Amino acid sequence: MEVRHCHQHGEEEDVHLNSDDVHPSIGQTHDRSSEDIVRSNWQSNELNAYGNDSETTLSESSVKKDTNKKSFSFEDFQAALDSYKAVIDISNVAFILEPFRCTLCQQPTSLPLTTKFSQRMCDSCRITLDADTPLRYLHDIVGEIYVFWLRLRREELCDRIEQVDLPGLPTHLGFIEGSPGNKTTLPTIADVRIHDEAGSALVSHALSAEQRGLLEEVLLTVNQCHISLLVLVQLLKKLVRADADSPILQVREYCYQPKHELCYSHCVHTFTLKDGRHFAISFTDRQLGWYPLVVPWAEYLDRCVKTESVPNMYDLGHVHMETASELSDPDSIPEDERGANGVLQRERALRVADEVVGRWKEWAKKER
Ligand SMILES: [Zn+2]
Repeated sequence: MEVRHCHQHGEEEDVHLNSDDVHPSIGQTHDRSSEDIVRSNWQSNELNAYGNDSETTLSESSVKKDTNKKSFSFEDFQAALDSYKAVIDISNVAFILEPFRCTLCQQPTSLPLTTKFSQRMCDSCRITLDADTPLRYLHDIVGEIYVFWLRLRREELCDRIEQVDLPGLPTHLGFIEGSPGNKTTLPTIADVRIHDEAGSALVSHALSAEQRGLLEEVLLTVNQCHISLLVLVQLLKKLVRADADSPILQVREYCYQPKHELCYSHCVHTFTLKDGRHFAISFTDRQLGWYPLVVPWAEYLDRCVKTESVPNMYDLGHVHMETASELSDPDSIPEDERGANGVLQRERALRVADEVVGRWKEWAKKER
């Protein structure tokens, strides 16, 4: 499916959310013309290029603006990116340049992964976490599912991704829609161009293996929030149910309007522990430049969810059920998604959902 959630769209004045709009049906996404997307990216670049420094005077910023526009017009920008179904501006995921950070406190740490599948943690967070058995369990299982999910994404990748370095602009990555089942691989990205800290000059960064790894996580999670809900259902049911001693009580699906300049609809899992604690778990937040995988619910609401949006919480399996019902009644698929790929993508995602426990077992045999 053309999952338009999490597209790197710009904030649109004409987006009016109501409960239907944020319903996580694949058919009820906010579509926008590719011109809108491209214009938003361009505007976002202008913002990045000129900075948001309130001390910058108007005359200064217009001088910079004129210089920039002489080198590359919006029309050129539009023409260069128009053919892509999704475009990521590296400026929006600049966190990839600092891969050695604790996933909990986000402070720099040079420590290696604390367990095979845990995310990187600083000493102080690790000690706190080790004293909290339910939370330690949650982090470990989420870390493991995340690594498996990325593997699944690599195996299912069918889009072609191109690095686009346009004059005077930071690196963009454009997604060319592929056919489900026709496997592609990620491009090897050796360096990226990004604005310096002052936002005034473009500098080129050669990417380390760690930085490239984090960039690949971003690329593998673009437009995948719905798919992650759809394909992981049986695995999450199995893992939560498998162990009576598991501290996890419930997993649900949550769809919302994010506090994000370029994304207006997003979804995540929520995990509730038997001790009552509640967390947002997002296997696809890194596409938005958001680094943590496990965030206490109140903190996630505060940091990521627009207060004016109408949130929707669903039982695990909701997106899967809706997608299956769309396929049994193709008229319910939005008109612009009824082409061969709209149906193929849904069929493929449901097949992966059916296979997910088997694929997990295969993966776990080798990796666990
Ligand atoms: Zn920490």
